[in-house]
Amino acid sequence: MHTFYYPDHIKHDPHQLHKEDTPRQNEYYCEVAERGIIIHDAIQQANLGPITPPGDFGIEPINEVHEYGLINLLQSAYQRMKTESDGTLAVPDTFSVGRLPHRKPRSIWGQLGYYCFDTSSPILEHTWDVAYWGAQTALSAAALVLAGLETEGMPISYALCRPPGHHAAQNLFGGFCYLNNAAIAAHWLVQQGKRVAILDIDYHHGNGTQAIFYGRSDVLVCSIHADPLNEYPYFWGYGDEYGSGGGQGFNWNYPLPRGTREPEYLQALADALVRVRLYVPDVLIVCLGVDTYEKDPAGGFRLQTESFARIGERIADTRLPVVVIQEGGYHLPTLGENVLYFFKGLLGK
Ligand SMILES: [Zn+2]
Repeated sequence: MHTFYYPDHIKHDPHQLHKEDTPRQNEYYCEVAERGIIIHDAIQQANLGPITPPGDFGIEPINEVHEYGLINLLQSAYQRMKTESDGTLAVPDTFSVGRLPHRKPRSIWGQLGYYCFDTSSPILEHTWDVAYWGAQTALSAAALVLAGLETEGMPISYALCRPPGHHAAQNLFGGFCYLNNAAIAAHWLVQQGKRVAILDIDYHHGNGTQAIFYGRSDVLVCSIHADPLNEYPYFWGYGDEYGSGGGQGFNWNYPLPRGTREPEYLQALADALVRVRLYVPDVLIVCLGVDTYEKDPAGGFRLQTESFARIGERIADTRLPVVVIQEGGYHLPTLGENVLYFFKGLLGK
């Protein structure tokens, strides 16, 4: 397996802002730079294959998925807060609820509220660069599997992305996510003439991925996650969201209650994989979140480390080429092992 990893992801670390703050806030910014390092070290020590930096596919694949206004804000907000405001942290304090499309304010504060849906995703000095390279990491993994389709039959690659991406939509960011790495990779693969399915197994619903492909039939989106009645992101991820227009029947949500254990989880996974198989994709993109782990501070399921191996095995049983893209997972003491067990299952090790 080939892993792509951008070591300078550590330059984006919202946790640094709150070192002196209350435990509640530390938990709130649990998307810390150590996450990437811990996972990288676990993959390296397990000798699962080469780990290389991503290639540069340029801005165009990002432009294809995200609105220019959102990209421009991510690129400029940090500096604009200094020149147009008092240099305070670039986090919205007002949200554009029920907005009309033409009401886009000029103010940096107004634009933050226009393009962001929560308060968990500050735009720091290096946020744009790190998000950009996260997208390139996903694209590099997609390109490797694309090339391997001709020669290997069932290639597998891993984009060790940080920050995660699945909460970011065309014109909205939030949930620690700025650019939707999986959607950018999926859309790029579609442009190369491939049929793509996305399976999101993060604890939280991938609302951004759903939004991007909701009206499309050329990317199947399946997501297994905590029931949004009780869990973030609350407003998306219900079982009756099937897609719209030409995309109807190409979006499948599997919301599960808090406290879900492995048997019920594997049943939902089996159901989702039936959908994936019926779609007959050329490539399966797996959005891997291990915040489904029993002790995860951002989770509420009761999966154990061994559960991730069985999830990997079930996905391997599809015998599809797989691009794995890292999403959440916040319990640092077990993070590396949980990701590793997933790959042990996927790779049959
Ligand atoms: Zn999550």
